[in-house]
Amino acid sequence: MPDYGHPIQFGTFITPTNSSPEVPVQLAVLSEQLGYDLVTFQDHPYQPSFLDTWTLMTWVAARTERIHISANVINLPLRPPAVMARAAASLDLLSGGRFDLALGAGAFWDAIVAMGGDRLTPGQGVDALSEAIEIIRGVWDADNRTPLRVDGTYHHVNGAKRGPSPAHDIPIWVGALKPRMLRLTGSKADGWLPSYAYLQPGDLEAGNARIDDAAEEAGRDPREITRLLNIGGRFSRSNGGTFDGPAEQWVEQLLPLALENGESTFILASDDPATLQHFAEEVAPALRAAVAAERGPQTARSTRSSIALSKRLSGIDYDAVPESLLAGAIEPGDHGYAKVRSTYMRGGSPGIVLQVTDVAGVIDALAYARAHPDIPLGVRSAGHGISGRSTNHGGIIIDLSRMSTIEILDESARLVRIEPGAKWADVAIALGEHGWALSSGDYGGVGVGGLATAGGIGWLSRKHGLTIDHLRALEVVTADGRLVRASADENAELFYGMRGAGANFGIAVSFEFEVDPIADVGWAQLVFDASDTAGFLQGWGATVEAAPRDLTSNLLMGPPRSGQPQVAQVFALVDSDDADTILEHLQPLAQLAPMLDQSVELKPYAAVMANNSGPGGQGQGEPASRSGLIEHITPAFAAAVEQLLASGAVYFFQIRSVGGAVADVAADATAYSNRSANFSVVAIGASQDRINAVWDTLMAPHFDGLYLSFDTDVRPERLADAFPEPALSRLRALKREWDPGGVFRDNFSLA
Ligand SMILES: Cc1cc2nc3c(=O)[nH]c(=O)nc-3n(C[C@H](O)[C@H](O)[C@H](O)COP(=O)(O)OP(=O)(O)OC[C@H]3O[C@@H](n4cnc5c(N)ncnc54)[C@H](O)[C@@H]3O)c2cc1C
Repeated sequence: MPDYGHPIQFGTFITPTNSSPEVPVQLAVLSEQLGYDLVTFQDHPYQPSFLDTWTLMTWVAARTERIHISANVINLPLRPPAVMARAAASLDLLSGGRFDLALGAGAFWDAIVAMGGDRLTPGQGVDALSEAIEIIRGVWDADNRTPLRVDGTYHHVNGAKRGPSPAHDIPIWVGALKPRMLRLTGSKADGWLPSYAYLQPGDLEAGNARIDDAAEEAGRDPREITRLLNIGGRFSRSNGGTFDGPAEQWVEQLLPLALENGESTFILASDDPATLQHFAEEVAPALRAAVAAERGPQTARSTRSSIALSKRLSGIDYDAVPESLLAGAIEPGDHGYAKVRSTYMRGGSPGIVLQVTDVAGVIDALAYARAHPDIPLGVRSAGHGISGRSTNHGGIIIDLSRMSTIEILDESARLVRIEPGAKWADVAIALGEHGWALSSGDYGGVGVGGLATAGGIGWLSRKHGLTIDHLRALEVVTADGRLVRASADENAELFYGMRGAGANFGIAVSFEFEVDPIADVGWAQLVFDASDTAGFLQGWGATVEAAPRDLTSNLLMGPPRSGQPQVAQVFALVDSDDADTILEHLQPLAQLAPMLDQSVELKPYAAVMANNSGPGGQGQGEPASRSGLIEHITPAFAAAVEQLLASGAVYFFQIRSVGGAVADVAADATAYSNRSANFSVVAIGASQDRINAVWDTLMAPHFDGLYLSFDTDVRPERLADAFPEPALSRLRALKREWDPGGVFRDNFSLA
């Protein structure tokens, strides 16, 4: 019988006795301290001297941090599968993905019947277990929008709601010996968990053969099924038989079980702390080393289930994923796929997401992507791209979200190094601890990688400029897989391009920023009756332009609602911690129109950025957004906005102030070159064609360029709007130099 190649793991099997209820909990904690991978408890809900196993497992999960937890095995006749599935998923979520599910069809039938359960013959038990597995997996399949129906002989669900999805792919192990149960294990389960004490010679070989045959008949790879084994015994000086002797003898006896019978998880039944310790210290490491020595060098390539394999897409060479990336490679059939397939604004179905953790990983991932020139490549930092297609359909995503270190390089020079996967809310918190802040966007969930390669218009813009204006150097993995540094002194032209058109030239893997000392700030949220919409817009624009630079303001409007006044929300940050100054600088805004609501607070910049609402990757469809940059809110522009809002083509309309320090930087200093604009305008609608039609006729004549981060229009003219000549020719020359093959093309591609 083959060795299935699974990692060798160890567990404990503890009696859930309730005479001293702390004891099983302490033994579980001890198991974790001793390095065991798993702690398990028998489940006999009819046994008055035992704690209830689910309750105990929950308690243990709360008292431990690393170890996996399972029943050994769950008593199915007394635990309805749909409810149990939800309990399992809940415990898995609460414990950070540490719950595993071992099922048993039942025994001790008199006790089960006495508790209200149904007596099942062994044959009936197989069918009941099969139906239960279908229900449990159905409940966990939270992405499936159809109600769950299983009309079984023993278990029924009739339109049950699905979810929650567990934190990890909870394996289902079956504790059984009979042939039909073993066939079920091979066709449907993820592991076989017998007890050595109940095995006759030859049972393991025969059991494995049955499981393997059934697996193959079901189109599965037998390696998908883990072989676990409960063992028990004692440590003694001399050879007293199987698992009765010194540690070396245990190792000798376990080794053939691993190498010839494919057993990979050994679960030691004992409530004796000294035995648990002796096994953990003397047997477990020696057995692991002996198995490793026999197996020789192994690859980290895991066995994906047949279901996962069937979801692979054509055009992607999955077997060629470099070893270094395997741990972070997520495919359509993998448990974690639902969380990474889409981004904040966009639904996606990529063929593979490569989550990298370091520069070497980025280089390997890029080499892999280059070997697939005909499928889309998306580069993702925190997945808040609007113009940036950091998800796609059928392509490759290089995901940098795990590269999120924020560190101080030079305290006196206020120089910080930030990795692309960091989010602006976290940057604000980290810098706030030093009394500093960095001009960033307005939303805490946005990533450093996407924003700091495009511009960075935010709450501090008028006084402190764009994010890219604080960039002193960055490290980039270029299209040919080199790691290069760009600054004013090294690769200066690349440094120019990375600040505004960065997505075109490489993957930024770290940024060095000079940040500003910023104490608490004034933060105002004002709501106005803007029934005179055009008049209000002009008044707001003129007020902002006349305001001191420490004030930066945004204005938000939606389409008019019949019977209700047009409302404008105005947000303003005043970079001052003096209450009188804040109120003085806000006063002209407050007088613009009848005010419906207001709040003004003095708070840290990090508190302003703490506005990240929940998980990011829930987007659906494609965003339809347009952007324009404008110097003044003229009467003609204000009238056009009024028509745009009334057109029904947009549901979101925003004007942000730029100008001030943004305009102090020369137009040819960075690829973001529309420096004279005082305002950045954004509108989002449901359809790109519809918004384009209105935007092109009504709005475009008023603009001098656009900010690429907010524009999803892919017509080629947009490049000239984002990079007016001579910038466009300069950037195209740079593209030819650094990315001649057009590897980077997911965001305003210059290729
Ligand atoms: C809710 C919301 C609020 C926003 N507010 C602001 C704002 O106030 N100010 C502002 O300026 N912008 C704002 N934006 C726009 C935002 O800056 C861009 O969408 C930005 O690209 C998002 O960065 P990310 O890393 O989260 O995105 P991702 O989706 O991860 O990346 C977007 C694109 O950026 C490029 N990219 C990402 N990482 C890298 C990298 N490491 N190296 C090279 N290229 C990379 C890729 O082309 C990618 O497709 C906002 C967006 C959203 C969704």
